Amino acid sequence: VRTASKKLTIGMIPADGIGREVLPAAQRAIEALGSSIPKPTFVPLLAGFELFTRTGQALPEETVDSLKHECNAAMFGAVSSPSRKVTGYSSPIVALRKKLDLYANVRPVKSVDGTSGRKVDMVIVRENTECLYIKEETQTTTPAGKEARATRLITERASRRIGQMAFEIALNRPNRHLTIVHKSNVLSVTDGLFRETVRAVPKLPEVGGRYDAVTVDEQLVDSMVYRMFREPEVFDVAVAPNMYGDIISDAAAALVGSLGLVPSVNAGDSFVMGEPVHGSAPDIVGKSIANPIAAIRSAAMLLSHLGHHDAAKRIDDAVDSVLREGQVLTPDLGGKSTTEEVTEAVVKRI
Ligand code: ATP
Ligand code: MG
Repeated sequence: VRTASKKLTIGMIPADGIGREVLPAAQRAIEALGSSIPKPTFVPLLAGFELFTRTGQALPEETVDSLKHECNAAMFGAVSSPSRKVTGYSSPIVALRKKLDLYANVRPVKSVDGTSGRKVDMVIVRENTECLYIKEETQTTTPAGKEARATRLITERASRRIGQMAFEIALNRPNRHLTIVHKSNVLSVTDGLFRETVRAVPKLPEVGGRYDAVTVDEQLVDSMVYRMFREPEVFDVAVAPNMYGDIISDAAAALVGSLGLVPSVNAGDSFVMGEPVHGSAPDIVGKSIANPIAAIRSAAMLLSHLGHHDAAKRIDDAVDSVLREGQVLTPDLGGKSTTEEVTEAVVKRI
């Protein structure tokens, strides 16, 4: 976005687990910017698995309505995933990505001196609407026992638009390099289509040579993970179908020291939703030790997506200095501070 939005009505959906603990930190970071951005309005909205267990609804109609008609952006916390299929429940975040056509999940993974030994500065661009996440699964019983199948959907349309987004991001980075992640040696039809379609983006007539400066290579997803651990510094932008994108981003998060550091936005052509990459972290919920940085950085990404680049940079710089100083850190980064204390430290620097 080149012209900054004048409206800043942000739907706040904490949902489950530590989502409720880290989303207030994102709000406080935005509020700390003061008059350098349009006055933000925060609209609290309900969704989540806990809500479902109480009310039978994971994503109320009012939430979707407000996002569509009242808000121009949103922040999402995290949603618990039941380990077994629960009748009547489907994930609200997956549904929201579809309903708002948030077709890209953009995940910058960057190491800050002092928080990890590895030098990483990459952006993972994950397709957000199809692949195995269409959740078409069936089970039948054969004479030999049960048999289960999942359908995986890859379309030219979705691959092209995610490819275009990835090239655009690569073009705006110093190294201008894009890696296409796939497994077309095994899945030659589905991953083959993804790979071919992304490869063809620079040659599209409407692109008109815009991406000629971007160099492109490919990695099979298994070797991608291997190389990310061996030499993470060689990667710049990586684009992947939904499931591979999910897996390589958790791996990348491990490289920079914690899932609690990695932000994302779910982006479409007309809406943006910030969301930390981590989940609901049931193992640490209620202990006030969740790292709020992923959520805070997601708020910065959201602002940047709406054209408020300077405001986003102020938040990022504040986070970087807290990390570099290394005095106020949550336990996932080896510190002893609470969610609130880290938030306070960042807000003070903003
Ligand atoms: P979910 O099903 O919701 O994804 P999960 O059990 O996979 O839940 P994640 O949230 O994905 O949990 O987290 C994986 C690990 O990373 C957990 O041990 C969790 O405590 C840790 N973790 C995730 N987010 C944070 C955070 N913000 N701060 C500190 N630790 C975190
Ligand atoms: Mg998880």
